[in-house]
Amino acid sequence: MTASALAGRLVTTGGVLDDGVLEVRPDGTIGYVGPGSGWSGPTPEPVDTLAAGYIDIHCHGGGGHTVTSGDPAEVAAVAAHHLSQGTTTMLASLVSAPTPELVAAIEAIASIAETGSSVVGCHVEGPFLDPAHRGAHDPAHLRNPGSDEIARWLAAGADDAGRQTVRMVTLAPELPGAAAAAELLERSGVVVGLGHTGADARGFGEALGSLRRPLVTHLFNGMEPLHHRRPGPVAASLDALARGATRVELIADGVHVADETVHLVFAVDPGRHVVLVSDAMVAAGMPDGDYELGSMRVRVEDGRAWTRTEPPSLAGGTSHAADLVRRCVVQAGVDPVAAVAAATSTPANLLGLDDRGSLATGLRADLVVLDRDWRVRRVMRGGDWIS
Ligand SMILES: [Zn+2]
Repeated sequence: MTASALAGRLVTTGGVLDDGVLEVRPDGTIGYVGPGSGWSGPTPEPVDTLAAGYIDIHCHGGGGHTVTSGDPAEVAAVAAHHLSQGTTTMLASLVSAPTPELVAAIEAIASIAETGSSVVGCHVEGPFLDPAHRGAHDPAHLRNPGSDEIARWLAAGADDAGRQTVRMVTLAPELPGAAAAAELLERSGVVVGLGHTGADARGFGEALGSLRRPLVTHLFNGMEPLHHRRPGPVAASLDALARGATRVELIADGVHVADETVHLVFAVDPGRHVVLVSDAMVAAGMPDGDYELGSMRVRVEDGRAWTRTEPPSLAGGTSHAADLVRRCVVQAGVDPVAAVAAATSTPANLLGLDDRGSLATGLRADLVVLDRDWRVRRVMRGGDWIS
């Protein structure tokens, strides 16, 4: 491949650069990034807007496929679907299931991650969750944290080169054994997200404060709402966020969290601590109808996924990372640089992916070309055009 260059509006971590140029080197990394006036190479191809490729750390499926089945081909199909929509890096998220099924799913995800896929690992979202705040997780598969089970996940996720596929685990901090499990996971380099929880504000805040890389799993969803006399995990999370003491996932799709609430969370953030996540399930990018999320039956109506339980619960999202960024900017009035960071550099930093996540010299050329309306028009991964 020969070097090439693109010219347009660049959304960098430092701000928006109008009339910028970005060079894609033959080795698939980013070369020059700067004003067009400083570029002396070949004539660049004009585009509207360029941002780093999106990173989604909470994604169960999409395009009619799911990452939970234990079938590597299904994991690859989910990755391909989201990649076509601008997600150049993702974690495959597993829902609560019996241990052998989780182990099989982790092995399938590991086999795909080893191929250099956009799936770089997995997020085990259940089974260590509060039954009363389980959302779409099957109550039959919830259990208390245990070091034996975690050891089985980590063994299934380790490849020959010593890399670990299990990169994130969500747990409810009030469960017996949760603190020891969090300690074990962090010692193994795994990010611990706190969520699907019945903890009160104090308990949740203390648990957050004890983590090395604190993260709140989909803030507002899977926990009690903010109430001025029962502040709960939301108050503790926003307080920690305001101090820069935690990162928070946010499903900013206009369904799980209202646009005004999204605006509030970004206003509280002192900078780069919000992580946009799709929580996408099998029906992302698919028509309304009946689907499955793990062992749970789900119906999608008007793009909203609900469990077939009484009462119904939201059962994951049907959007892609690109839809969240667009929604933040267009509907929620979030600063575009902050919205893009929440889907690129912030999740990259959280996962320790220092080779990607922004438009900067030397990083992988993972790019999305956007139009004026923040819709993804083209996608590049590692210097190769995907679409
Ligand atoms: Zn969840």
